[in-house]
Amino acid sequence: MKYLGVPLLAKRLGIKDCKCLVDKVKNKVNNWKLKKLSYAGRLQLASSVLNAMQTYWASVYVLPYNIVKEIDKLLKGFLWAQADSAKGKAKVAWKDVCVPKDQGGLGLRPLKDWTETLIVKQIRRIISKEESLWSKWVNLIKLKCISFWDITAGYNDSWGWKYLLDLRDKVKHHFGSVYVNGRIKWVWITNDGKSVPFSTHQVWKDLRVNRAKVSWWHVIWYKGFDPKHAFLLWLAVLDRLNTQERMAKWLPNKQFSCVFCGKEKDSIKHLFFMCEFSLQVWSELKKKLLFRGLPDKLNDIVHDLAKYPNSKSIWNVINRMVIAACVYLLWQERNYRLFKKIERDADTVCKAVQDFVQCKLLTLKVKQNDAVNRVAEMWGLKFVNNCLFLFAEKKTAKKKTTGCKIGFIHLDDYDTDDKEDLDNIPIALASAFR
Ligand SMILES: [Zn+2]
Repeated sequence: MKYLGVPLLAKRLGIKDCKCLVDKVKNKVNNWKLKKLSYAGRLQLASSVLNAMQTYWASVYVLPYNIVKEIDKLLKGFLWAQADSAKGKAKVAWKDVCVPKDQGGLGLRPLKDWTETLIVKQIRRIISKEESLWSKWVNLIKLKCISFWDITAGYNDSWGWKYLLDLRDKVKHHFGSVYVNGRIKWVWITNDGKSVPFSTHQVWKDLRVNRAKVSWWHVIWYKGFDPKHAFLLWLAVLDRLNTQERMAKWLPNKQFSCVFCGKEKDSIKHLFFMCEFSLQVWSELKKKLLFRGLPDKLNDIVHDLAKYPNSKSIWNVINRMVIAACVYLLWQERNYRLFKKIERDADTVCKAVQDFVQCKLLTLKVKQNDAVNRVAEMWGLKFVNNCLFLFAEKKTAKKKTTGCKIGFIHLDDYDTDDKEDLDNIPIALASAFR
């Protein structure tokens, strides 16, 4: 019998009971594989599966380790597999994908770690002798008069109970108590020694393995980022795109040459900034930006933009949009030429980047200032009521020209700081690109 898709069991949950969960994920993944989805689309779907597991199953049961492993494997295969193949070669290891975005990952929450977090919640219920049937049962039948921290696992105990007891060493130092109105209240001691009210979010934050923050994460993942562009830029920053330079390591005898200029093997540096085709695209794009220097390394640009993590300046947003869109469209053009034998010239690629950025600008809510006026002028837009609009020339029967709105999406709230826009950022960028 099931309730909300979760089996109702009087006994402990076994691998057999979770089989339907694995089958469900497998069916979903197989259906999705038939559709041609971008990496960004796959990431979104993998994330939705994990969230659903965490919301329903993992919060009701302790999922067996083998099941968690199997689901992780299915999602990993789905994220990296091509539409027509069962297996996909992972460009980035799953353990690196499953770390927060500010630590260089894609922000997926691994099921195993999340399960651990939810078990800690159960431990708190036991030691605080919460008014619940389960807590009362554990205290009366399992613990009797022995402290939870001292009891040893019995031979016949369930694997779920043993799992819970095994976790004690890892979390004991996180449990603290305070007296409130003469009663003990359990609090959570964070990794930096602060006592805070117990919350799943805080437990998750403290128990997962944290890595050093990466400076460039907000250059890729900012408010209003384009998922497809962001995913590709993330791969490029990590140097995981299958460029010819990388391919040559696996195929040392194969002759490679850049699909644009034919002069050398393509690499991230060559493809995006050094190739004559890319330089042509860049030289046009630069006219729409406030800096004139040209970087020769993607990482240099990204690290330079990373110096302004909290800047909401409109030029900062435009810089990030242009970099991501340009990298995406150049990579797309390279693949079109290589695999589809379709060619677009540099002007068309440049126009595609500009059209994309122009459309994105229409979605911003901005305050009028010098920077916004300058953006409107340079990108062919008009400022009306805290938004940028695109006006088209419309010829009437009397050959008069009138303005008309083409499109508008009201999404973000960008508060601009004109001093920073006009002075600091362009100068800093220009000096870095010399
Ligand atoms: Zn080239």
